[in-house]
Amino acid sequence: MAYREMDTQGWQVLDRAHYLHPFTDHASLRQGGARVAVRGEGIYVWDTEGTRIIDGLSGLGNVNIGYGRRELVEAAASQMLELSYCQSFFKTTHRSAVMLAEKLTSMLPDSLNHVFFQSSGSEANETAIRLVRHYWDLAGRPQKRMIIGRELAYHGSTHMAASLSGIPPMHSAGGDIPMPSVTHIKTAYQYRNGFGMDPAEFGVLAASWLEDKILELGPDNVAAFIAEPAQSAGGALCPPETYWPEIQRICRKYDVLLILDEVVMGFGRTGHWFGHRRYGIEPDILQLGKAITSGYLPLSATVISDRIADLLIDKGGEWAHGYTYSGHPTCCAVALENIRILDEEKLVENAGATLAPYFKAKLDSFIDHPLIGDVRSVGLMGGLEIVQDKATREAFPYEAHIGDYCAAEGLKRGLAFRANGDTMSLMPPLVTTIEQFDTIFDIAREALDATAKEFGVTA
Ligand code: PLP
Repeated sequence: MAYREMDTQGWQVLDRAHYLHPFTDHASLRQGGARVAVRGEGIYVWDTEGTRIIDGLSGLGNVNIGYGRRELVEAAASQMLELSYCQSFFKTTHRSAVMLAEKLTSMLPDSLNHVFFQSSGSEANETAIRLVRHYWDLAGRPQKRMIIGRELAYHGSTHMAASLSGIPPMHSAGGDIPMPSVTHIKTAYQYRNGFGMDPAEFGVLAASWLEDKILELGPDNVAAFIAEPAQSAGGALCPPETYWPEIQRICRKYDVLLILDEVVMGFGRTGHWFGHRRYGIEPDILQLGKAITSGYLPLSATVISDRIADLLIDKGGEWAHGYTYSGHPTCCAVALENIRILDEEKLVENAGATLAPYFKAKLDSFIDHPLIGDVRSVGLMGGLEIVQDKATREAFPYEAHIGDYCAAEGLKRGLAFRANGDTMSLMPPLVTTIEQFDTIFDIAREALDATAKEFGVTA
């Protein structure tokens, strides 16, 4: 049958037969079938049934300027017509990559002046770890090998990125993960790791777990600490203000490189241009991805401090690392146009000054809901943690999949939001209006009410 005549069911049959989805239980997908998306505009996505869904997740935290922006399409088309591909391996460069590298470094702290490009956040984290190892070898300290990450972190799905991650299923799938040179500490998750404490004191305590781990391993053996400014996949975990200054101090004290994974937080998610600005962090390696192109094309950037780059350039010889699509011209051209739109339309400033306070007030009001034990947010990333018992903070059993149930109730009513564990996460596009926020939160409440009813929870 011609594709254009196929109905939803036809697409679902083909989908089930041939397309393996990421992070999906295919047995359960087989029972229902996937929603077939066909079109996007602004914050909305339409499916083959004509149903309009609000994308409360900005895709996967990347579609910050919303769907359907013609300017990005035109930037891609004109770059493709002019120079559709260019390798940079053999002393060749091209203008879009150079302009983007220069643009990014002009937006970042003075010490971050060198950019390496890849296609994904996972690849960026592979680059970072190879780079860190190479750096310590060149610096004459090859024994500095261990990488410290955090529980509930998400850094990607390739072998090393999954090792760096601290979400349990990342370690159970695939075997030999985490690699022996990676270890994890508890994270700044106050609801579970410091309930009832003064937040400022908790921030210092949570940072001290890094110092404890460095001392346990021996500072001479520790290469780097990797962390997200705030954690999205871990369940919207936002650190207290005292956390990052302490982490920075500890990294400097023990000469441990700080890799800041801003793959989600970069380009406005925190209501600031970058997470490191929001939390006052100066990393040695900064990871950007996702919203660098607002999801129109795959691209990530690893931005490297002078300290590392100088050694690499002066003493490193040829560094045997790179990807066919490092600095792809079309992706770079689209990123430049995306940054222009974010900048000229003041989307980040508006998100920080107007949208984020409204978003937070709306989210905070959910603390009265019988299912919600904790509410967390920074900028336009927020989470509502579902618990079985608000007094004891006891979670529902994993097998109940209550978060997934709630997400399905949201989708039925026209809102895409997701469960990270039992935390219902929202990361709406930066172009969401106040009226659209009202709709998002009305649906979220209806979905939670329906979930409470199904699971027999009353006020
Ligand atoms: N780092 C963080 C903080 C992420 O949230 C993600 C993806 O969600 C990644 C890295 C991996 O990025 P990608 O899926 O582009 O490989």
